[in-house]
Amino acid sequence: MGNPLGSHSGVHKMGCVYYTIAGLPPEYLSSLDNIFTAYLFHSDDRGNKFSNDQIFSSLVKEIIDLQENGVTINIRFERYNWLFCISCFSANHYCRICRLYKDDTKKMCHESELSIRNVQNYESDLAVHNVSYTGINEPCIFNKIPNFHVTENIVCDFMHDIPEGVARYDMALIISGLIEQNYFSLAELNKRILLFNYGVTEKKNTPPLIRDSDIKKGCIIMSASETLCLARYFSLIVGELVPYDSIYWKLYLTLHKIIDLCCATKIQRDSDVLLNSLVSEHNRLFLVLSKSNLKPKYHLMAHYGRILKKNGPIILTSSIRFEAKHKVLKAIANAIPCRINLGYTLAYKLQLQMVARFLSNLSLNVQDLKLGLGKDVHTYAEFPHDLVDKLPEEFKTDCLSFAWLEYKGIYYRKHILLVLENNLDGLIFGEVVFIFVGKSQIPFFLFKPVYTVGFDNHFHAFEVVIDNSNSINYSKLTGCYVNEFYDITPTVPRVLGNSKTYATIRYAL
Ligand SMILES: [Zn+2]
Repeated sequence: MGNPLGSHSGVHKMGCVYYTIAGLPPEYLSSLDNIFTAYLFHSDDRGNKFSNDQIFSSLVKEIIDLQENGVTINIRFERYNWLFCISCFSANHYCRICRLYKDDTKKMCHESELSIRNVQNYESDLAVHNVSYTGINEPCIFNKIPNFHVTENIVCDFMHDIPEGVARYDMALIISGLIEQNYFSLAELNKRILLFNYGVTEKKNTPPLIRDSDIKKGCIIMSASETLCLARYFSLIVGELVPYDSIYWKLYLTLHKIIDLCCATKIQRDSDVLLNSLVSEHNRLFLVLSKSNLKPKYHLMAHYGRILKKNGPIILTSSIRFEAKHKVLKAIANAIPCRINLGYTLAYKLQLQMVARFLSNLSLNVQDLKLGLGKDVHTYAEFPHDLVDKLPEEFKTDCLSFAWLEYKGIYYRKHILLVLENNLDGLIFGEVVFIFVGKSQIPFFLFKPVYTVGFDNHFHAFEVVIDNSNSINYSKLTGCYVNEFYDITPTVPRVLGNSKTYATIRYAL
């Protein structure tokens, strides 16, 4: 907080504890409004003036109270008592999940079941009082919370582990390997990165050009969302230039599959087994290609299968949005010139904002629906009868048609693709041709069918055939409400150098 270049820089460094409510629907979880501040403290106080125990004791007291007594909420004149259960994480040592020695983790591609930390070995490690030997410095203060133990409530941080860790090293290794084998040059790669069609969902995350110096250093420097975007679309950007049997490509595809699984908001049975085997294959390939050791973040990835099984979707516990929340606090701090008891001022302002939100009775997302310019459509007169029969009641007379709209923070427009179905043959996409909104305020989409040829492993994308003619065969249109989609994230068709069209999804479905 304050001027980072001034003589007092660092004096007002604040630590924050944020929390989210895991039971909220996933589409609301990433909104900054639904990430709440639980605790603020001066970073300098922690460790120097006060112990962790003293700093966090009142937070722990609050959490225990929430768990044992809960809060009472009135809904339509009925009183409900809500009890909470808490999961969070704390880290002091490089691997907080297992007791492996640093040197062992350098070559080990998979998790070692025997070395996993548990309550018993945690207690006996504590009794040793030797942090360099056991990795445990002091008892975790949060263990005082009933039903919580730091060895049982394990959480990973996807953002720091993969987009800001493994993926950065991997992509540098893969790009330098492919350039060395003369499949393309750095200039050509940068030209393709610049000209790639990122589409509506990824426009904000367009990766910057890759510098030669980064490749030589073995780590590309870009933001977490840019690295994710590069890793997701690299197969389409240069896929047709690389032969099917390239070992560097194999490493890339494994990384891509790991990211897909970690970003999934819904998981299927045995996803954890798949993730474990992908990570051990990935780490094996990295050892072979880099001829160096596994870095700590590669080792942490070996525990991802266990965490996925225990906690559910990994992306929902990522700190990627918590970091974005810092800007809210910074904005408040920058608006106030006074620095006396800054933590109190920030907490007071945040509480006022919360009260304003409660009093105005706003829903989870302030505005679910944002609309572009609408056009009146007389469906009964403009569309054939058999199509009108298929429409919901609210669209059978007049309604408004839109070229674009935003629903629950996701932007939709005509001609994007959405996943309509997932069957044994793969995904079935539909191309949006009409977007209607009626009285219910829930958008309704009409789709032109898209033929899926199949999943192409090399490009890690679905090959599709899109009808580019302007004429619409009304009898073939299908429609559904936005909340009935198989998956809510839109994608765009992309034509590659091999003149085939591909559609990709942002995460595993
Ligand atoms: Zn470990």
